[in-house]
Amino acid sequence: MPAVPKTAYLTVDDGPSPLMAERVAFLARHGIPALWFCRGDYLETTPEPALAALRLGSILGNHTYDHSYCSKLTVEQFSAQIDRTERILEALHARVGVPRTARYFRFPYEDRIGTPEHFAALQAILLARGFVRPAFADVPYLYFNTEERRRDLSVFWTYDTRDWSLPAADDPRAPAVLAEVLARMDLDIPEDRLGLNYPGAAEVIVMHDHGHTGAQWQAVVEGLLAKGLRFALPG
Ligand SMILES: [Zn+2]
Repeated sequence: MPAVPKTAYLTVDDGPSPLMAERVAFLARHGIPALWFCRGDYLETTPEPALAALRLGSILGNHTYDHSYCSKLTVEQFSAQIDRTERILEALHARVGVPRTARYFRFPYEDRIGTPEHFAALQAILLARGFVRPAFADVPYLYFNTEERRRDLSVFWTYDTRDWSLPAADDPRAPAVLAEVLARMDLDIPEDRLGLNYPGAAEVIVMHDHGHTGAQWQAVVEGLLAKGLRFALPG
């Protein structure tokens, strides 16, 4: 456990999966708020866990409608992806009577830059729709706070758990890969920023609501909890 307590902002991409409901409940039992970057199409087919997350004080963000490669979209296609998902998110907030405190967005695949002009056009769409980049004033890493990053309204991260690398829970390789994912939390990893052991620095952690990972997902969160992180929402 680090000597200096660290704040962590948990972000979870690609849901809602059929397992999101139990994951939301698991986080609630541990008092962990999360920012869920949801796909519009999955919100349409599986809205219940997203509603539960809202009721428990978590935040839903926009991750496009169908998880597109945004650098390949026209500006009009990008707008349509954003707006369609926003309409769904607004309707979900209305259903539970929870106000929308902030609009957050994350590019699928971190695919955010085609030409500089295209990047600027997409950013203009996000700005016009009221999306904001959380301040994350306690995240000190230079790569996180470059000029270019500050022009990008999508929510970047500092620590990728690599939960996406887990095979299905019943795959014979699963225990070894899970052990790697957990062991990595104890390393200092320059190529992937400095990691969970950098004293005092707040971390923006990314996980994925992928159905195939099953209960390994909870094991990854337990690994994060064992690092002594204090989970918070951006604000
Ligand atoms: Zn994604």
